[in-house]
Amino acid sequence: MNKIAVLPGDGIGPEVVAEAVRVLECLRDEHALAIELEYGLIGGAAYEAHGQPLPEETLALARAADAVLLGAVGGPRWEALPMALRPEKALLALRSALGLFANLRPAILFPQLASASTLRPEVVEGLDILIVRELVGGIYFGEPRGVRTLDTGERQGFNTLVYTESEIERVVRRAFEIARVRRHRVCSVDKANVLECTELWRETVMRVACEYPDVAVAHMYVDNAAMQLVRAPKQFDVIVTTNLFGDILSDEAAMLTGSIGMLPSASLNETDRGLYEPIHGSAPDIAGQNLANPLATILSVAMMLRYSLRQPDLAVRVEAAVSQALDAGLRTADLRDGIHETVSTRTMGEAVVAALRA
Ligand code: NAD
Repeated sequence: MNKIAVLPGDGIGPEVVAEAVRVLECLRDEHALAIELEYGLIGGAAYEAHGQPLPEETLALARAADAVLLGAVGGPRWEALPMALRPEKALLALRSALGLFANLRPAILFPQLASASTLRPEVVEGLDILIVRELVGGIYFGEPRGVRTLDTGERQGFNTLVYTESEIERVVRRAFEIARVRRHRVCSVDKANVLECTELWRETVMRVACEYPDVAVAHMYVDNAAMQLVRAPKQFDVIVTTNLFGDILSDEAAMLTGSIGMLPSASLNETDRGLYEPIHGSAPDIAGQNLANPLATILSVAMMLRYSLRQPDLAVRVEAAVSQALDAGLRTADLRDGIHETVSTRTMGEAVVAALRA
């Protein structure tokens, strides 16, 4: 029996998670998926109930689970709180506590949505990239960090980019393993011409690559990678990179596919336990209105099935069900194209479940 911790969070989080849970329940009831769901509070919702965004019981629930399904956290109501109590802090703490060092963000263009991209259809048609971003190290966590006052009286801000070889190796290895079940290509993105730390990154990639002779490896400077992603994105299969570069490049890649409401993510630890969440936030502007696109969260369930629950066939079924809902002409407001009918969160979720049942 796999334990799944469900953390709906704030804003549209509960609405999109409810649809993803319906998908999981359908797989449990009709496809013999052995799962047990347990709910917890996180983010602003947890702050309201317990005075902190990541209560001890939520952390314990997540630690005991094989996988965590998360909606989104944050919203204007909690923006004035001290940094340590802000909803977004809970996410960083959770990733860190669970040792989720590998963040997987696919950028896949569903053919039905080719016209939703800002790039020409022929540039993005068939796009299927996976960005593997290091998630718990690098400049976001490096010490020392801060703002100090110099002898001159001027203030100076500073952060530290640090990676040990083992931190690089574990995420790079994960990228090579995943490339083996895809198109056998890894592009490592660094800034080795300027930053010593990423020179070590490149050396480590070259060393690890020797163990994967069936995977073609390339190296690219981050500035070029940013350009290539919009010039000719289909040249990429798996991209592996640091926390900071991955943060930026994965948002850029996400936009190639049209809507933020379509993009799932997975964050994995050493033993493939994972946190699965849509890449979007809590969208306070549309929260509570049954308008949000639940497909990114439903596709996060597909990633959960593939990476933590080891049910690749069911993952494919969920992805096919999403595709069928799009084929049937259903579009939530974010995918509005002036041609198809615009439907609610609930209706889109129902259509995916109906396709799964068929
Ligand atoms: P956002 O992703 O919440 O919203 C950006 C825009 O995209 C909004 O116009 C929103 O309506 C739209 N959008 C997002 N998801 C959608 C969906 N599923 N369907 C349809 N439209 C969708 O980003 P933001 O506005 O910058 O942030 C809002 C709040 O979310 C902030 O408090 C921020 O800190 C938080 N946030 C949380 C996460 C997370 O929980 N992982 C990620 C990003 C932002």
